[in-house]
Amino acid sequence: MKIVILSRQPSLYSTRRLVEAGEKMGHEMMVVDHLKCNIELEKKKPRLYYKGEYLTGVDAVIPRIGASVTFYGTAVVRQFEMMKIFTAVESQALIRSRDKLRSLQLLSRAGVGMPKTIFSNFAKDVDHIVDSVGGAPVVLKLLEGTQGLGVILAESQNAAGSVMEAFNGLEARIIVQEFIKEAGGADIRAFVVDGVVVGAMKRQGKEGEFRSNLHRGGSANIIELSEEEENTALVAAKAMGLGVAGVDMLQSNSGPLVLEVNSSPGLEGIEKATGKDIAKKIIRYVERNV
Ligand code: ADP
Ligand code: GLU
Repeated sequence: MKIVILSRQPSLYSTRRLVEAGEKMGHEMMVVDHLKCNIELEKKKPRLYYKGEYLTGVDAVIPRIGASVTFYGTAVVRQFEMMKIFTAVESQALIRSRDKLRSLQLLSRAGVGMPKTIFSNFAKDVDHIVDSVGGAPVVLKLLEGTQGLGVILAESQNAAGSVMEAFNGLEARIIVQEFIKEAGGADIRAFVVDGVVVGAMKRQGKEGEFRSNLHRGGSANIIELSEEEENTALVAAKAMGLGVAGVDMLQSNSGPLVLEVNSSPGLEGIEKATGKDIAKKIIRYVERNV
């Protein structure tokens, strides 16, 4: 098969590993920079023009679209869909996953556990909002943030109020969330491919840091998920319509609480922590669907 990986950088670990796994399995792998694709439209003839030629003979696409280029990236993924080419992540699911609020709404409807969350435009309701999520400390999150940037722990009601006021003044949208103290600065990432958890790791934030993101200096170790955790990850990926997903959860006294579902989960952390060939699982998933 000819498989296109949509990625801005062939040298990224995840991109390299997918190319390597695909080639080992006998496929022709091509890395395409979605930002350098022209989308051509006319009656019944959707095409993509890339580096001087039209993309032809493609059997499947594996999107690795960064959060900062969601609009253009998903337009390219959609164009492949118009060309009736299988994509490992559907454009709609990708867009959905990039909106934290919309994601939590869908997960809530699907019955997935999550920290209690409030979205408000109205900073005057601070007392009610903070009380509703269990009182200070509370977590405030910029809706557009990734990699732990824009996630703030407000220790007091006053601090929460000031931060909300500041963000509202900047017209930045935030959610307020119950702080899950017993998670102890750790979270778990379940990597889901095609309705199966293919690997899981626990990430621990560095000393004195409540955010466990590897980008913030956290460290990762392999972990065995409980049945409830595994089930929660699968329900969450399904609710988001994602065939490949990184489901992030906190371990709380009341069971697993989902924070978010990533549609372009990185392979480096999970492959190194688990020693598993996750790239191969993704290629196998593509093979089953073409
Ligand atoms: P991002 O998308 O920027 O990674 P997250 O919502 O995943 O944002 O938050 C980053 C990290 O902060 C999480 O991995 C977790 O360790 C910690 N965290 C986030 N929300 C909470 C919460 N409500 N209670 C406790 N810790 C949290
Ligand atoms: N690569 C990051 C992760 O796995 C973010 C993925 C995304 O942009 O959705 O945590």
